[in-house]
Amino acid sequence: MLIGVLALQGAFAEHKKILDKLNVESFEIRQKKDILKEFDAVILPGGESPVIGKLLKELDIFEELKIKIVNGMPVFGTCAGMILLAKEIENDDRRHLALMDIKVKRNAYGRQLGSFTCSEKFGLIEQFPMVFIRAPHAINAGDNVEVLSVVDDKIVAARQNNILVTAFHPELTDDTRIHEYFIGMVKENDRV
Ligand code: GLN
Repeated sequence: MLIGVLALQGAFAEHKKILDKLNVESFEIRQKKDILKEFDAVILPGGESPVIGKLLKELDIFEELKIKIVNGMPVFGTCAGMILLAKEIENDDRRHLALMDIKVKRNAYGRQLGSFTCSEKFGLIEQFPMVFIRAPHAINAGDNVEVLSVVDDKIVAARQNNILVTAFHPELTDDTRIHEYFIGMVKENDRV
């Protein structure tokens, strides 16, 4: 299994570290030739969604990435990655990959005081340490979206088929269980 980690801006190194810890091979996607490689899944890290979105287009990675996800490649978007994948963004006119039936709000917890941690449920995991950094949350989700975490009545993790998103940053903790969940999705996909 080979996972590509989008490495244009933001917290990509931390995802790679978790994958190393889980003995999963990964590589950084920095330019067009990287997205053209053969690989099994992709991670879109946290950072600034307008910056990553702009670089995806400027570096001509956008179309190929979108096609891969549309064709079923498993993708895990954290924080800004969740915004890149959302079909609707409440407080931004920009749209990026726009593949998941969720409406998100950027910087939903305020800009300055928007960082906090808590320990909440993710799917079948009872307690997961969640680190939020100027995070979005989803305001609503389509019927085809499985909501995996709700914190203070807000959707902060969800899955739609091959697309997994978290508003928080599992890569900034020592807890590898959400990455393991994603790897489970990749294995499922490889079997089909
Ligand atoms: N505030 C950022 C955005 O709107 C997301 C923050 C993050 O990824 N930690 O894209």
